[in-house]
Amino acid sequence: MGSPRAALAELLAGNRRFVSGQPMHGHDVTAAAAASGDQQPYAVLLGCIDSRVPLEAIFDQTFGSICVIRTGGHVLDRAVLGSIEYVVGELGVPLVMVLGHERCGAVASAVDALRGGRSPGGALAHLVDQIAPAVTEVGVDDPRVHPMAVRRHVLRTVAALRADDRLAVPIAAGRLTVSGALYDLTTGEVTLLEP
Ligand SMILES: [Zn+2]
Repeated sequence: MGSPRAALAELLAGNRRFVSGQPMHGHDVTAAAAASGDQQPYAVLLGCIDSRVPLEAIFDQTFGSICVIRTGGHVLDRAVLGSIEYVVGELGVPLVMVLGHERCGAVASAVDALRGGRSPGGALAHLVDQIAPAVTEVGVDDPRVHPMAVRRHVLRTVAALRADDRLAVPIAAGRLTVSGALYDLTTGEVTLLEP
């Protein structure tokens, strides 16, 4: 398995191919067949369910190259954490990336809930509760609360992952990096929030 730095470079190179309009990978059955042996992904990505942000496409990845987890507003829960621990611990991937995006509906729900003082109820309340601290940190009345809260929520998600017991060990050993990034819906570009 390669280094965290190489994995990040590979992922960002894929996004540049996507943005340039010259993706290398198609999603056809021959690619699926070629990757049908044991999987050796080099990264696990946690993104939002938003239909405009398909992770394999925006990073121009093929079958077998990345593991993808998507929840509303890339919210963590034990199933998500367990999945990431599996990919890191059992498959040995050197990179976890959390990808937020502009105009995130889940973040908007959290802003609306805080402004209205009402929980949406149901299981959606779990998403809102997990995102709410990022909104509060920015300030619910800040005119730029949406984009700022998206950014803050990505950084909070990254921090939560870095604090996970099972991930802290490979991070300390230099075998794993957890990165946060933002996706631009218009240009298709991915920007790292921190190195
Ligand atoms: Zn979203």
